[in-house]
Amino acid sequence: MKRDQRGFTLMELMIVIVIIGVLAAIGVPAYNNYVKKAKAAACDANRRSIATAVGLYYAEHSDYKKDGADLTLSDLEQYLDNADDLKCPDNKDGTKGYTIVATESDSKWTSVKIVCNAGTGHDDYYIVGAAPTEP
Ligand SMILES: [Zn+2]
Repeated sequence: MKRDQRGFTLMELMIVIVIIGVLAAIGVPAYNNYVKKAKAAACDANRRSIATAVGLYYAEHSDYKKDGADLTLSDLEQYLDNADDLKCPDNKDGTKGYTIVATESDSKWTSVKIVCNAGTGHDDYYIVGAAPTEP
């Protein structure tokens, strides 16, 4: 039997496979967590952009509603170039956008907020009412 042939033993190969498995077990969840955080941050940015547009709408119309109904993203097209394309990145089919909910009591705005419709637990962004949410 020739002994000068070089190669890896079964034990060496198994050790390498175990090391790769451990690295993957640590890396994949960490990667998924980063992706989730990035999507939440993008959603935050979307809500802030909408809030800015709502502020501009309010400056022009002195109202957080249009003809008594809550504003839609289409109503903000004048102030926000991609208003209709703004969707929460954290939903599977990418169809869930945002809702603007304004509540009035005794001619005072008690709450004006941007709500993410993706249902992934993203905070509402308050323009009036609670303190603005920080990411
Ligand atoms: Zn969202």
